[in-house]
Amino acid sequence: MRINEIFVSIQGEGPNTGVPTTFVRFQGCNRSVACKWCDTLYAFDPQGGLERSVEDVVNEVVGYRGASGVNNVCITGGEPLMQLDDFKQLVSQLDTRSLDVEVETNGLSVIPRDCDTFVKHWLCDLKLPGSGVPTPTVEWPQYLELRSEDAIMCIAADTGDLDWLEKQLWSLSRPMLELLRAQIYVHPVWGALDLRQIVSWLLGHGALFQSLGVKVRVGTQLHKHIWPVGQRGV
Ligand code: SF4
Repeated sequence: MRINEIFVSIQGEGPNTGVPTTFVRFQGCNRSVACKWCDTLYAFDPQGGLERSVEDVVNEVVGYRGASGVNNVCITGGEPLMQLDDFKQLVSQLDTRSLDVEVETNGLSVIPRDCDTFVKHWLCDLKLPGSGVPTPTVEWPQYLELRSEDAIMCIAADTGDLDWLEKQLWSLSRPMLELLRAQIYVHPVWGALDLRQIVSWLLGHGALFQSLGVKVRVGTQLHKHIWPVGQRGV
């Protein structure tokens, strides 16, 4: 499989924010045009990276656990589900070695539900208009299948993105809302939107979200508060 990089850091996003984590970054993304704010363009080209075997990757991850006790593994990209057969083998083997696995996916690929047993958290992007999607729509069936331990990740570039997300949630019927179990994390494009604007938006709509029964959280990219923006391997 094509792998861009493997490194140990802390998880900067989602339910495991702050948890020491080994990141396995798959090479290649299936977006026709990169998201405007993509911070991993170096993993976009499917031909880039290095060819690695599943066994080789598992051994490296297990080695990091032996050296530093890191038990959480984040499979990310690019888009890891583009290399589905290898992906399935990898999460299965990591599970066999009692590693905790979470997976970041961009929302374009169908999540393989037969891997649920190996994946503790799916972090599934929901792309807002500010990402540059030409005609943004939400494929709700995919999001409604997520579990309560999974996360829908929304990256807002401006307040228009926040308004758009709110409208999408309003458009859901009551039966659909009852199926929406995953937590929704909204975090800013770094440097484009102030965290306080998201907090203000969330507090201003708290009663609405409660009436809809949706769990919306303010998120951030913790690693960008710690290391210089653009630094790789963190
Ligand atoms: S989906 Fe992810 S990897 Fe692909 S362009 Fe967008 S941010 Fe970058």
